[in-house]
Amino acid sequence: MIDRAEIASQYQQLFGGEPRFWVRAPGRVNLIGEHTDYNDGFVLPAAIEREMVLAVGPRDDRMTLLRSLDYPHAVEFDLAEEIERAPEDPWGNYARGVAWALKEAGYALNGFHGVGQGDVPIGSGLSSSAAIEVAVALAYQAVTGFEMDGVTAAKLCQRAENAFVGVNSGIMDQFISRNAEAGHALLIDCRSLDYRPIPLDTSDAKIVIADTAKRRGLVDSEYNARRAECETAVRILGEHLPGITALRDVSVEQFNGLAERLPEITRKRARHVITENDRVLRAVDLLASGDLQGFGELMNESHRSLRDDYEVSGKELDAMVELAWKQPGVLGSRMTGAGFGGCTVSLLRSDSVEDFCREVPKQYQAQTGLEPSLYVTEAAPGAEISSQ
Ligand code: ADP
Ligand code: MG
Repeated sequence: MIDRAEIASQYQQLFGGEPRFWVRAPGRVNLIGEHTDYNDGFVLPAAIEREMVLAVGPRDDRMTLLRSLDYPHAVEFDLAEEIERAPEDPWGNYARGVAWALKEAGYALNGFHGVGQGDVPIGSGLSSSAAIEVAVALAYQAVTGFEMDGVTAAKLCQRAENAFVGVNSGIMDQFISRNAEAGHALLIDCRSLDYRPIPLDTSDAKIVIADTAKRRGLVDSEYNARRAECETAVRILGEHLPGITALRDVSVEQFNGLAERLPEITRKRARHVITENDRVLRAVDLLASGDLQGFGELMNESHRSLRDDYEVSGKELDAMVELAWKQPGVLGSRMTGAGFGGCTVSLLRSDSVEDFCREVPKQYQAQTGLEPSLYVTEAAPGAEISSQ
């Protein structure tokens, strides 16, 4: 839980007075569209009701002083100097990285001081990192007073994470954190970065995220292997489909006609990506027409495809999803994120949430010995600044 009174009191003690601005940026969950981003495809994330909150005030000098209630030490750096990574200060590097990326893009930044707190679980795959990046970028916007569109902001925050912090992530996390709308998922075209809010009618349904408590091992090497297999598929399919540059360009029909030309593993990997892109677009139509049942079916299909064709699930993720599938009121359930561990996402009828949150963790723990964490959420609003 975010304690705004505690944030304000820490702010008062450290810097005096009241914060001039409050900014918030949410974490996220991807509802469908997994391992499609680096294939120029489609994703459909929603922001969650867990966020990073910063209380900030402008400074007369060009210092940035930021304290997180979740970490013992504050980050402090001078915008007038070259901003460098501090290996001994991992969380501060997210703030430094954002300042670095904004400066690199030509923004003349004002200094600020602030106090922050987050309740996005850290390192669970719900993107606490994007939440802090997007919040810090908004803090600079608030105190400096410049306009920046949401696509540019997302790209600069991604650049901070990739080029400064050194984590190779796609655009989805920062994009949804910054551009989400309450009560909507966001269809993002990872090639053009066009996006469209899709109403997610949660009057009768809730999103439940289940962290399997299995940490994601092996992710880097397997991730690189999957990327390479997708490139191989594009090369072979390109001999028959001139002009394609990514699996995004291949329809399910085209793939079915050519699948035999691919070696088995490559064929399975390509089949996941191509059918997953198709599922995202169908899912959007179903959501738009309020067909949550149909949408849930596609989530289930997505899981089977990730498990059998892309082979990025694992016994903990499968156990959690299979337990969810057996619960009454569950519309759909799948692993979410890169895989091998991390979280599942389920969509369920509101009146089934209580039973689900009691039964699923109990049975999961009995089966795996791991203690999961559950988060119930609606589709939350994207990042914002408010003055106070
Ligand atoms: P996630 O899946 O949560 O995005 P990452 O490893 O990408 O996991 O990012 C987590 C890192 O983001 C933390 O180790 C920390 O450096 C930073 N971070 C996240 N939340 C906070 C917070 N509330 N305060 C300060 N830093 C945070
Ligand atoms: Mg992250």
